Amino acid sequence: MTANPLWYQNGLQFGCRQCGRCCIGEAGYVWVNEEEITAMADYLGLNRNMFVAHFVRKVGKQKSLIELNNGDCVFFNHEIRGCQLYEVRPTQCRTWPFWNQNIDAPNSWKKTAKFCSGCNKGDLHAVEEIEEKRKKLNL
Ligand code: SF4
Ligand code: SF4
Repeated sequence: MTANPLWYQNGLQFGCRQCGRCCIGEAGYVWVNEEEITAMADYLGLNRNMFVAHFVRKVGKQKSLIELNNGDCVFFNHEIRGCQLYEVRPTQCRTWPFWNQNIDAPNSWKKTAKFCSGCNKGDLHAVEEIEEKRKKLNL
């Protein structure tokens, strides 16, 4: 349960600086559901099974995009410093940084801002939008 969701009642500022840090480096998971897999495969013009065989791994009952040996998401493009599948990126990526674990308390947001230079910069996101994103996934 979120400890104090209203601490960001007046919204939070966020504007991606395209450093790529949330997509590369550390090992982690990019959770994907069936709908998202189909959208990504279609976007790349690939057969769905082919897409799964090359880019998806099973983690227990869930599915994640694979990452390279260095921890980079397989779809991070270093040349453009961004996501190769931006238009159809998974919900997990669309809702960053407004995840439960990042906004459950002011300190969590502070920690997130140390990791992500886009926090506390750029557009002000209203509490309604933040809440909509936060509730999409249990992260
Ligand atoms: S870490 Fe933050 S600023 Fe960097 S790419 Fe990710 S969202 Fe953008
Ligand atoms: S799918 Fe795209 S936005 Fe999501 S982690 Fe991979 S490169 Fe980043």
